[in-house]
Amino acid sequence: MVAAMVLVLIVVLILLFMYWVIWRDRLIRNRPFLSAWRAILEANLPIYSALPGEDQHRLQQLINLFMAKKRFVGCGGLQISDEIRITIAAQACLLLLRQGWSVYPKLYSVLVYPYGFKVKHEESQLDGTVSRTGKNLSGESWSNGKVILSWDDVTSGVADFTDGRNVVLHEFAHQLDTESGSANGAPLLRRNSYQTWAQVFTKNFKDLQWRSQHHHKTVMDEYGTTNPAEFFAVATETFFEKPQQLYRKRPKLYQQLSQYYQIDPRQWHQ
Ligand SMILES: [Zn+2]
Repeated sequence: MVAAMVLVLIVVLILLFMYWVIWRDRLIRNRPFLSAWRAILEANLPIYSALPGEDQHRLQQLINLFMAKKRFVGCGGLQISDEIRITIAAQACLLLLRQGWSVYPKLYSVLVYPYGFKVKHEESQLDGTVSRTGKNLSGESWSNGKVILSWDDVTSGVADFTDGRNVVLHEFAHQLDTESGSANGAPLLRRNSYQTWAQVFTKNFKDLQWRSQHHHKTVMDEYGTTNPAEFFAVATETFFEKPQQLYRKRPKLYQQLSQYYQIDPRQWHQ
């Protein structure tokens, strides 16, 4: 009898906690959006003005959640400002525009360096030894709740929203990818069929590798040939920044991405 009452109490407490989280998030996302933040969006995110009013409002709500829940850390002497936080949060939230209110639940911190940063990586060599190399990076996404970005690359990526290169979209696509457990090019699919996704992505991945090896022009950056996870991240950059070209050259890939993100960015670029 006592055990049953304890069990009921635990269930009630869990339900109360879940209700409290939903109630708190609703309060946060419905906070008035600061006019200074809107000015940053208008100045730094060219695509913002092209969004329909309803999407602008939804993006602001997502940014409110992102700003309240994620910690920004300045590295290499960089002082974090609202301009840095809003410019990064806005692009990260663009990927979630029609994805519900879950804002990267596994992400806790965004670390920002002023310029490209060096990360020590251990690489196994063919002879069995391990070498340590220092790569210069513009961004990196970790599965343990961290994204690292170079502010210099963030600003150059967002300044031209038509060249298919955007480090924030790239690294946060990796975050979506790891929500499914591992970075393998397949995020949690709620509307797409996993089978169709695998078929379309594998075919386009192999085609990009072939075109790259044979020095043909490609609409996607050749970095997408590295592995399926990089292919998904690069496809995301291209989908948002060069939607017309991607639609023409890789219509089935475009259709899968459009179904996943629930948007058609071609409308924003007209
Ligand atoms: Zn990557």
